[in-house]
Amino acid sequence: MSEEEKAPAIMSSMRPDGSRVVIRTADVKGRYIVWRRVVFALLIGCYAAGPLIKINGNPAVFLDVAQRRFFLFGNTFNAQDFWIVLLFGLTFIFSILLITAWRGRLWCGWVCPQTVFLEALFRPIERLVDGPRERALKAAQQPWGVGKVLRFILKQFLYLFMAALVAHASVALFVSIPAYIAMIQEGPSVHVVPFAWTVVLTGLFFFNFAWFREQFCVVLCPYGRMQSVLHDQDSVVISYDQKRGEPRGKLAKPKPGEEAPQRGDCVDCKRCIYVCPTAMDIRNGMQMECLACAQCIDACDEVMKKLNKPQGLIRYASQQEFATGKRRFLRPRIFIYAAAILIAFGVLSFSLAKRHSFEVLMIRPSGLAPWVLNDTQIYNQYELHLVNKRPAVATYSIEASFLEGADIIVGLPKVEIEPFSSLRIPIRVSIGRERLKEVLFGGEKEAVLPEVQVRIQNLEMQELEERSARFLFPGKSAL
Ligand code: SF4
Ligand code: SF4
Repeated sequence: MSEEEKAPAIMSSMRPDGSRVVIRTADVKGRYIVWRRVVFALLIGCYAAGPLIKINGNPAVFLDVAQRRFFLFGNTFNAQDFWIVLLFGLTFIFSILLITAWRGRLWCGWVCPQTVFLEALFRPIERLVDGPRERALKAAQQPWGVGKVLRFILKQFLYLFMAALVAHASVALFVSIPAYIAMIQEGPSVHVVPFAWTVVLTGLFFFNFAWFREQFCVVLCPYGRMQSVLHDQDSVVISYDQKRGEPRGKLAKPKPGEEAPQRGDCVDCKRCIYVCPTAMDIRNGMQMECLACAQCIDACDEVMKKLNKPQGLIRYASQQEFATGKRRFLRPRIFIYAAAILIAFGVLSFSLAKRHSFEVLMIRPSGLAPWVLNDTQIYNQYELHLVNKRPAVATYSIEASFLEGADIIVGLPKVEIEPFSSLRIPIRVSIGRERLKEVLFGGEKEAVLPEVQVRIQNLEMQELEERSARFLFPGKSAL
């Protein structure tokens, strides 16, 4: 029978009539669950500490969308740096593709916020109130009584409390901790928008983590649905060793005179299903519902240990490995993803290294003629749009140059700009008509169209930017 034929026609968390099966996972012990808990604690720690820890006087993570400025680990970005987000996003997506081709859904089982919050914060509440799986299943069958109602209310209250905590931590990323504390003290009526966001996020997190849970992964998440194209026969995924495990069967002593049946190592205890957050049976082969949490590996290893059999009946392995005994890492899609990561990351690193703490744009003021002529002179007017992207006041010097004999007026040759503010500085350049004619049409050589050069220097950071713009003039006859 092929893997597809063995796999259930519907999801494990759904009955044939379409109703939902409420999943109660059994407790599991083992090396992977220990490591996952360490990873979960680190990730939640980083998430909570982001707005609390200060680097260079600003929160390590502060996404100030309202002011369009973003503080990330000591660096400051603004709306003009959107391309960095784009490059970072590309690097991240290609990295996920590479990891998926190499080790399957490592992201889902180990670092996805859906898994991290559910398994580290919300599932323990369920375990605390309802007890172990067997007790919880038994209680679910019993009619509603005072004890059951009280347990239900307590559990929902704790879920709501946890959802509110996660929502507050999320909003703090966007408003900063001191501002958030001040907002809470001043009350929701003064800060309607952050309050509304906190309420909406609390509701969404409560709905998702208290009820929707694994349905998000198996029904909504697009990444989960793309697995069949992201994996290949060499991807190392969580798999059941069919050769070793089958034919499966319960442990039973043969009756006197009977021969012990030929059995594989799987004793059909179903522990791998009971610990699974999507209740799927890994023995039916790779399925879209597998979140690669490795809980079935730990559960089966526990069983094998008790039976004095080698561990690893369920383990990380590729289909090729089962077929040929060999694991292959290097293959075309790995090279393609690695090349894409290198390119995206290379461009990102280069751009970050070249990035300055200010932006400058040299434009012509709208509504003005490109040039102004009088009897002797021709004028061009420009405007420098200078943006200070630093969280501190910055001083700039501005110098402009043009052809010899030109007259240049820079509106503000030295200027201080407030943090995250911008300023428009006018520059007027004029030159005698005869002098311009001499430069353009007097020489033997082909005329070179002249440009006004501007040097802008940030005096604190010693960063220099140069801009240039064409000097415009009428045709030779009008000049
Ligand atoms: S936990 Fe292991 S032994 Fe038990 S049913 Fe699953 S694969 Fe078989
Ligand atoms: S099959 Fe195993 S690895 Fe996949 S989701 Fe279930 S328990 Fe986790």
